[in-house]
Amino acid sequence: MSTAKENTSAIWDLIKEIPDPEIPVLTITDLGVIRNVELKGEKVVVTITPTYTGCPAMTQFEDDIVATLKKHKYEDVEIIITYDPPWTTDWLSEEAKLKLQNYGIAPPEEKTTDKKYLIGESKKNVICPQCKSTHTKMISQFGSTACKALYQCQDCKEPFDYFKCI
Ligand SMILES: [Zn+2]
Repeated sequence: MSTAKENTSAIWDLIKEIPDPEIPVLTITDLGVIRNVELKGEKVVVTITPTYTGCPAMTQFEDDIVATLKKHKYEDVEIIITYDPPWTTDWLSEEAKLKLQNYGIAPPEEKTTDKKYLIGESKKNVICPQCKSTHTKMISQFGSTACKALYQCQDCKEPFDYFKCI
């Protein structure tokens, strides 16, 4: 007989590598979305905190968690969504920020605890993911998705997405 704790860690292992539907280099763990995994008898209860509210990625995550667990014979899966505490970009791991940059998306520059940030426009210089120049400019508050702002590098002229701080 395995303990409940061993079983939940096996479930963590199954779902921790689920990629972000929008940014496939990031996993659900990089984003810090999974809050808790619990076993109630045969039922798996996964508690998640959505990232950007209204981001279409979230319902995709729910579907992917359920599908992944079903594939491994966990038929009864419940997803609980909690907004307390709300997700912020501070939850992104340093590794996640590096992955974002390598993928061509500038990671959030500020900690939301600074309280001085503006949604979409960073007060600090956003670093160009292509040439690492800090000479960059916001072109639009919205990039490829509402979660990102569109920036352009003034040196290499490449446009790029900036992952907004929230
Ligand atoms: Zn550049």
